[in-house]
Amino acid sequence: MTKELFAIFGNPVSHSKSPLMHNLAFKGLGIDGCYSRYKLNNGERLKEVFFALGLKGINITVPHKEHAYQACDELDPFAQKVGAVNTIVEKRGKLYGYNTDAPGFLKAIAEFEDVKSVLFLGAGGTAQSTAVILKEAGYEVTILNRSAGRLEKFKAEDFKTATFDTFVPQNYDLVINMTSAGLEDESLPAPQELLDMVIPHAKACVDVIYGKETPFLKLAKHHGKPTKDGSDMLLYQGIIAFEYFTDHQYTFNEIRHYMKKAFIL
Ligand code: NDP
Repeated sequence: MTKELFAIFGNPVSHSKSPLMHNLAFKGLGIDGCYSRYKLNNGERLKEVFFALGLKGINITVPHKEHAYQACDELDPFAQKVGAVNTIVEKRGKLYGYNTDAPGFLKAIAEFEDVKSVLFLGAGGTAQSTAVILKEAGYEVTILNRSAGRLEKFKAEDFKTATFDTFVPQNYDLVINMTSAGLEDESLPAPQELLDMVIPHAKACVDVIYGKETPFLKLAKHHGKPTKDGSDMLLYQGIIAFEYFTDHQYTFNEIRHYMKKAFIL
């Protein structure tokens, strides 16, 4: 059998941990696979590049998740519902699309007990798929965003929404930063006076950004709250993608055993 090739497509993509995560799992499980990164400038060319490189599967990151959705021949029902694909697998010449970010996030917050209400700071693509899966799992999700435009699609799906100007704070069990605020700067995802009203009532605060303590998580710690960054979300979305890449031949825990080593290096 020839080596199977996988990659992550994005722009930028040089920072991605995915090649390390997947190659550790391939090596550990004795699979003849290789996972690399590919900087895709033009998302319209995703399908053409996929086949030109002879790939078996890819992950897709910013800004190509909607292009990935368009490129698929078949969509998993959840990916279809949320309109975003971050994992593609080729089977008999057809591209099958999945979303593993949202189930990865759902699993990452499962450790917090007695959580019912959740406040999302941010309304981008990650927030959208994640809000849908949380709602399906029984959480009450409120979306707070700095501008109104991206809230429309949430309103259409009956989520409670607000901008900073219209927000009336309530008690939320989890407050979650779903924005990129703090990723490459030291900004908070919402005005501090607003965060100071909601964080004290939360059981914990979560950030989807990983690999650094963001100003949001620093503020949560200042309020004495447990915190969690986006590392488990990244790990779990990767494990679920790997399950699709290898046609569910390995259990979640078998894959996790090797893939998690990417986070101690
Ligand atoms: P999008 O570009 O789709 O959305 C960005 C959102 O953040 C918008 O709601 C935007 O508000 C808001 N925003 C951006 N900057 C600020 C700021 N300075 N202050 C307040 N709001 C801000 O991003 P994604 O949804 O794709 O990604 C969001 C985050 O999720 C990123 O940090 C990404 O790294 C992370 N992520 C983590 C993953 C993991 O595995 N841990 C997986 C996927 C994503 P507006 O509408 O007003 O512009």
